[in-house]
Amino acid sequence: MTAIAVLGSTNMDLVAYVARAPGRGETVTGREFRTVPGGKGANQAVAAARAGGEVVMIGAVGTDEYGSALRTNLEHAGVDTDLLHTVAGPSGTAHIVVDDEGANAIVVIPGANGTVTALGPGERAAVAAAGLLLLQLELPLTAVTEAARTAKDRGVRTILTPSPVQPLPSALLDAVDLLIPNEHEAAALTGCEEPHAAAQILLRQVPEVVITLGRKGCLYAARDGEPVLFPAPEVTAVDTTGAGDTFVGTLAVALGEGRSVPEAVAWASSAAALCVQKPGASTSMPYRSEIDAA
Ligand code: ADP
Repeated sequence: MTAIAVLGSTNMDLVAYVARAPGRGETVTGREFRTVPGGKGANQAVAAARAGGEVVMIGAVGTDEYGSALRTNLEHAGVDTDLLHTVAGPSGTAHIVVDDEGANAIVVIPGANGTVTALGPGERAAVAAAGLLLLQLELPLTAVTEAARTAKDRGVRTILTPSPVQPLPSALLDAVDLLIPNEHEAAALTGCEEPHAAAQILLRQVPEVVITLGRKGCLYAARDGEPVLFPAPEVTAVDTTGAGDTFVGTLAVALGEGRSVPEAVAWASSAAALCVQKPGASTSMPYRSEIDAA
């Protein structure tokens, strides 16, 4: 099995369930509140571990009570947390509103995640020893770029989820093998709303792209070949939080097992469709047996 290193955020998600999200200056009464372990990095790590991957999490949590809960959650999923540091101050938090259509709006406060500005020797060694590296943009860009460069130097395949979306330095993009934006991120990165056109622009900078399209599925494009649209399974979504992270984490497991990209994308689409049918992010991520059964 190929080890998957995840350098990324670990947040506590503070989730409010409402009929309709409030507009600016408006107050609405919600139905329910939950605290759910999250963070794009941790979510991808949990998704990959539940899907059967051997996963190492690199990042930081705070000294508050969320920090120990977040670590325990990763450990329960089977993720190695030796390189998840505990630093003074609060853990990262994400403030999420989920409406009755399953759509979400999110504010992230980085907390401990913001202290991860560079890699130490242990982190560099873990990246170099991995078969695959998963990156997102909820940690400082300096650390994300350093991890990508380390991986490139050692021939480790790197997958980047460009979220939250921001301009990407070429030092980072040059080291990315597969970029996985959702359709909004793809549009923001390229100025092109149309996914096929956006993919062609992104392929000037990275060799392979998967643009996720929510319930429409995803578009896979590589420099050598025609783009392929993979429809998503038709399901009733109750909460799409974590769908993209489930997709990426499970895709990484399949690629690490040597499956082709189309096979891996089909498997990841089944996993993400299972995730959207349950509330929460990491709590709704499917186990390998469930994905295989779907
Ligand atoms: P993100 O969660 O990052 O915004 P998307 O919304 O594009 O990403 O969802 C990621 C993937 O999750 C999609 O490519 C698809 O496979 C799956 N997915 C999302 N929403 C649905 C849905 N309503 N029905 C089935 N699959 C879905």
